[in-house]
Amino acid sequence: MSSALRSMANTVLFSPSSSSPSSWALKRGLGLRRVPRCPNSLGRALRRSFVAAAANSPGFANENREFVIVGGGNAAGYAARTFVEHGMADGRLCIVSKEAVAPYERPALTKGYLFPPDKKPARLPGFHTCVGSSGERQTPEWYTEHGIEVLYQDPVVAFDGQKQTVTTTSGKILKYGSLIVSTGCEAARFPEKIGGNLPGVHYIRDVADADSLVSSLGRAKKVAVIGGGYIGMEVAAAAAGWNLDTTIIFPEDHIMPRLFTPSLARRYEELYQQNGVKFMKGVLIDKLEAGAGGRVANVILKNGSVIEADTVVVGIGAKPVVSPFEAVGLNNSVGGIQVDSHFRTSLPGVFAVGDVAAFPLKIYNRTARVEHVDHARKSAQHCVRTLLTAQTQPYDYLPYFYSRVFEYEGSTRKIWWQFYGDNVGETIEVGNFDPKVATFWIDSDSRLKGVFLESGSSEEVSLLPQLAKAQPLVDKAKLKSASSIEDALEIARSSLKAGSAV
Ligand SMILES: Cc1cc2nc3c(=O)[nH]c(=O)nc-3n(C[C@H](O)[C@H](O)[C@H](O)COP(=O)(O)OP(=O)(O)OC[C@H]3O[C@@H](n4cnc5c(N)ncnc54)[C@H](O)[C@@H]3O)c2cc1C
Repeated sequence: MSSALRSMANTVLFSPSSSSPSSWALKRGLGLRRVPRCPNSLGRALRRSFVAAAANSPGFANENREFVIVGGGNAAGYAARTFVEHGMADGRLCIVSKEAVAPYERPALTKGYLFPPDKKPARLPGFHTCVGSSGERQTPEWYTEHGIEVLYQDPVVAFDGQKQTVTTTSGKILKYGSLIVSTGCEAARFPEKIGGNLPGVHYIRDVADADSLVSSLGRAKKVAVIGGGYIGMEVAAAAAGWNLDTTIIFPEDHIMPRLFTPSLARRYEELYQQNGVKFMKGVLIDKLEAGAGGRVANVILKNGSVIEADTVVVGIGAKPVVSPFEAVGLNNSVGGIQVDSHFRTSLPGVFAVGDVAAFPLKIYNRTARVEHVDHARKSAQHCVRTLLTAQTQPYDYLPYFYSRVFEYEGSTRKIWWQFYGDNVGETIEVGNFDPKVATFWIDSDSRLKGVFLESGSSEEVSLLPQLAKAQPLVDKAKLKSASSIEDALEIARSSLKAGSAV
C-alpha cells in the first residue's frame, strides 16, 4: 500500500453502537458512583487530602472512583484538561500511570530532549502537557491543585469489566464509574537472541528511555540508528548535532517510505549527508554483537557487512498496548482496541483513546489507528466531551503528521514540515528545498487528497488542512507549471473556491 495512512491503518468493517453518546453519558457517565460534592473550597481541600491519603494508605483497596484514566501519557494529559474545563475533575478523576512523572508532550523526547548538552536541551517540567498546544503547563502540582489523583509507577495489571475494577501492580483495586484506556504504544524490540537487549541498545518511548540514551550519547563515538521512519530520522539528526559518527540503517529504498516520495526523501537525505550522517539503505539486520565489555560493538547485516557502533538506537515501529484490556474488544486488522466514533468500546462505560484506539476515520470511510500526538489530543478531548456533555457529533479527524529536526542553536539549517490528508494518487512537487518544498497528492479524479510543506509560513500552513479537508478539483497542468511554492499554494487556494469533494 502506498499511502502512509493505509499502511499505518488498514480498513476494516465497523458497526457503530446504536445508543447515542449523550443518553449513554447520562446513564453511565454522570449517574454512576458520583463522589459526594462539597460546594465550598474547604470541601475541595478535604477531598484532596482524603484522596492523597487514600493513595498512600495500605487500606486503599476497593475505593470507588467516578472516572479512571489508565495510562499517563499525551492523551491522559489532554483528557485531564478537558475534565477540568468541565468542572468534573476535582475529587472525581484518578489517573493510573506506569511512569514516574506527570503526562508530558512525548514528541519532545526525540527533538528538544536530545539537543546537545550545550544547546539548552528540553527537560521536565518544561514540556509537560499541554504546552504543545499552548495550554497551561500541567505539572504534578497542577493535578494536585485541580483535585486529580495520580497514581505514579503503578501500572494496571488486571481488568474486570463485570465488576468495573482495575487492579494495579501494587495491588490497589479501583472501582470505576467510567474508564478511559489510554495506554498508547510500546516500542517494537529486537529479540534478545539477536542482541536486542545488549547494553548500549536503546528504544525510545518514555522519558526514562530518553535519559538512558542521553547518557549513552555523552560517551558515544559511533552511533547506529536502525529504522528510517520518524524516530530514526529524529535521532539521527540529534546524534549529528552531538558531532557523533552516525549511520542510519533501514531496509527500504529511502527514508520515511510511508509518507515521502523518493524525490522528497532524496532532498532530506542529502541534507542529512551534509550534516555528516551516513546511510545504509535496502539492508537487513542479522544481529547486534557485543564487544569485550559486553556492550554493543557492531551491527551485523544480513549481507555480511559490519557497522561499528557503541550506541544503537532501534526505531522500527511500535505496537499498541492492549493488555490487560483484551476483553473490551480488539481490532485484528489495524490492532488496538476497537471503538466507535465517540471512543466507546464494546463494554458500556469503557472508552479507549490515543494510539491504542482503532476508530472510524470518517473522512476516508475506513477504520484507523493513528500514532500521532494531534490525534491523541483530539481523541481525548472528544471522548471526555462525549462523556460529560450532550455532544453527539462523531469524531471527524483529518490526518496530520509533522516533524522538526536540526533545531538546536547553531544548526546551519532547521527543518520543519507538515503533512495533511491522505498520500494517495499522483504527486506534483514544487519548490527547490531552499528552504521550501511542497508536494501535492492528486487522485485520478483530479481531487487534491494530501499536501506536504517544508518550512511554510504560519499562514501557508493554515491553508493545508483546508485543502486536505475540502479535496478540491485542481488544475494539474497549472500546478505543475507553478513558478514557486507561493504560486502553487495560490493555485490550490483558488481551486477551493471552485468547489470541493466533501
Ligand atoms: C519518541 C517519540 C517521538 C514522537 N514524535 C512525534 C511527532 O513528532 N509527532 C507526532 O505527531 N507524534 C509523535 N509521537 C507519537 C506521539 O507521542 C503519540 O502518538 C502520543 O504520545 C500518543 O498518546 P497516548 O496517550 O495515546 O500514548 P502515550 O503518550 O504513549 O501514553 C501512554 C501511557 O500509558 C502508560 N501505560 C501503558 N500501559 C499501562 C498500564 N497497564 N497501566 C498504566 N499505564 C500504562 C505508558 O507508560 C504511557 O505513559 C512520538 C512518539 C515517540 C515515542
